[in-house]
Amino acid sequence: MNHFPIFLALEGRRVLVAGGGDAAIAKLRLLLKTTARITVVAENASPEIRQWAEAGKLTLIDRAQEPGDALCCVVAYGAHEDVALDARTLRLAAADGALVNLVDNLEKSQFITPAIVDRDPVVVAIGTEGAAPVLARKIKADLEAKLSAQLGVLARIGKTFRKAADVLPMGAVRRRFWGEYYDMVGPRAAQDGEAAIRDALDTLLDKHVRAEAREGHVDLVGAGPGDPELLTLKARKALDKADVVIHDRLVTPEILELARREALILDVGKEGFGPSTAQSDIDALIVEHARKGAHVVRLKAGDPTVFGRLDEEIEALDAAGVSWSIVPGITAASAAVATIGQSLTKRSRNASVRFLTGHDMKGFADQDWAALAQPGEVAAIYMGKRAARWMQGRLMMHGAAAATDITIVENASRADQRIHAATLATLPDRMTQVDGPAVILFGLAPRAASIALSEREIAL
Ligand code: SAH
Repeated sequence: MNHFPIFLALEGRRVLVAGGGDAAIAKLRLLLKTTARITVVAENASPEIRQWAEAGKLTLIDRAQEPGDALCCVVAYGAHEDVALDARTLRLAAADGALVNLVDNLEKSQFITPAIVDRDPVVVAIGTEGAAPVLARKIKADLEAKLSAQLGVLARIGKTFRKAADVLPMGAVRRRFWGEYYDMVGPRAAQDGEAAIRDALDTLLDKHVRAEAREGHVDLVGAGPGDPELLTLKARKALDKADVVIHDRLVTPEILELARREALILDVGKEGFGPSTAQSDIDALIVEHARKGAHVVRLKAGDPTVFGRLDEEIEALDAAGVSWSIVPGITAASAAVATIGQSLTKRSRNASVRFLTGHDMKGFADQDWAALAQPGEVAAIYMGKRAARWMQGRLMMHGAAAATDITIVENASRADQRIHAATLATLPDRMTQVDGPAVILFGLAPRAASIALSEREIAL
């Protein structure tokens, strides 16, 4: 591609046309559709151009082009139909800082004007870089036939309606609404004028909003680490509206309590390495309920976007044409680090933090252990129970100090929360004392105050 297509903002900006014959008239017909301030510089301009000037549509300067005529012009056209005069325009206008096009002179032009199908504000530009003007004309004719004459007015009115249409959930549902407007409802109403188009849009939106209410929707909701107070307001609202709640094992009973009383609650709990519902069965279950018109809350521990197999569920929903949205939650690492009074990042200690999973880790050298082994590095390791000894080996092999601080936070934010202060050397042993879900905070020790608290808890 030697020529890159762009749409130039011309409102209030200057454009120069040098020349006053047929070639200039053809360019001016196009340019007059824009909101540019047009100047024509020509000796003996044709009567049509003089009329445009008299009507105030452009400024006509009755002489040959001079240096400075193209100052502040975005673009300038050489339209003299004379090679020498156009070459002069190129020199002068380029010196004034404008991009120059010489009519019918692809080689010397700094830009070219494409063939246009105009359904303002919808504009299709067609270019062949001079290779096949006939083909360009054919494509233009095809598109002219294909794009209805009212498309512009439909797009203009559609634009004013976009905010209103935001009540429909993003994705398939909203696309269906706009598809129906542009394919059927809009063109039909356009025959009766603009007011009819607006009325038709109102009715159509109403229809889709009502259909949507019946159609079912899936909220992929983060339940947070366990403490119901760490739910977002959005998560609570979703639970209030839910017809069906499909949750993981780690979601606590206190949170499930908040679901609408009539809601059907389904546990598709997955034990880390134990028996579990196959992911494909979970996907099918969510789709099945949404298709029946239910408002489904797919409730996942922590944040659904962190080690949550979220994408598989989204792909299943998209494939089934079911609308969905994500409600983020507080991930276990955030809750864990809060309980030990530390931050995940700290100036002059670590400017980045890694979230790792210990699941599936054995046998895969898929982490940058060497980088993590550097002093000051911090990582939150999820599902790390089984792989603790293996990770210890990897990190030490890459030079991590045996005394590197590690904190294991078990059942973060829950009543049975426990904080285990450890080092890289003691990690596997401390891990054997852990029963509940735990995050390993590599590179962080609890602040003194939180250790005292945890010892009290353990003593209890
Ligand atoms: N999406 C979840 C993570 C799911 S993976 C989130 O963002 O938190 C499951 C792992 O998360 C567990 O094995 C454990 O490592 C961690 N986890 C979840 N809840 C936890 C909690 N309350 N305390 C400590 N770790 C937790």
